[in-house]
Amino acid sequence: MKYAFPVSSVPTVPIAGTDLNYPVRRIYCVGRNYAEHAREMGFEPEREPPFFFTKPADAIVADGATIAYALATQNLHHEIELVVALGKGGVNIARDSALEHVYGYAAGIDMTRRDLQLGARDKGRPWDVGKAFDQSAPISPIYRTSEIGHPQAGAICLSVNGQVRQNADLKQLLWPVADLVVELSRLFVLQPGDLIYTGTPAGVGPVTVGDELYGSIEGVGTIRIWIGARSAGLEP
Ligand code: MN
Repeated sequence: MKYAFPVSSVPTVPIAGTDLNYPVRRIYCVGRNYAEHAREMGFEPEREPPFFFTKPADAIVADGATIAYALATQNLHHEIELVVALGKGGVNIARDSALEHVYGYAAGIDMTRRDLQLGARDKGRPWDVGKAFDQSAPISPIYRTSEIGHPQAGAICLSVNGQVRQNADLKQLLWPVADLVVELSRLFVLQPGDLIYTGTPAGVGPVTVGDELYGSIEGVGTIRIWIGARSAGLEP
């Protein structure tokens, strides 16, 4: 195969406790999956099917990185989230076997250009400009289920410069991981390499240049990133 220009490398996430890397194929994200966060965004949480949006695979950012303050926003937000890493694909997956499709878990941050997201939302437009931008998916190493099991309770927290902004519990997920796998597999052909950012608890808020973000999920892992100058490192 001859290509017209160099092919982009596959985005990867290190797998903790191994010398392996997890090749990222797709990034799915879940909206309003904690009641208090739904309320802070102006919605009364309802028991309706979860809804999804996506980010490009190359939005992945490694633990320890400095990301640019994103382009075209005045209101860049943090959203700490449990991330599911699939190791097995499928369609119309049964709930009983849904967790067998999970390879591991990570702590991720769904970086959000809140001004662009809300602007799009209010006009009934897609969320892409608010969610699916460069460097918008920081993620910790992936911890295998063979090591940590399937955490269903435990603190999920994010602090900015040492001050706690988000502090909740995985028990508060409106749609737990098994249900998310089932629902997603009704909509898309899932494959190994697919990540699911499972939604954020309340306490989302803005970051500024120079901030240190530290996220932790009990029983999973931690993620630390810094916010650099606008456009720093964004040149192709
Ligand atoms: Mn989110």
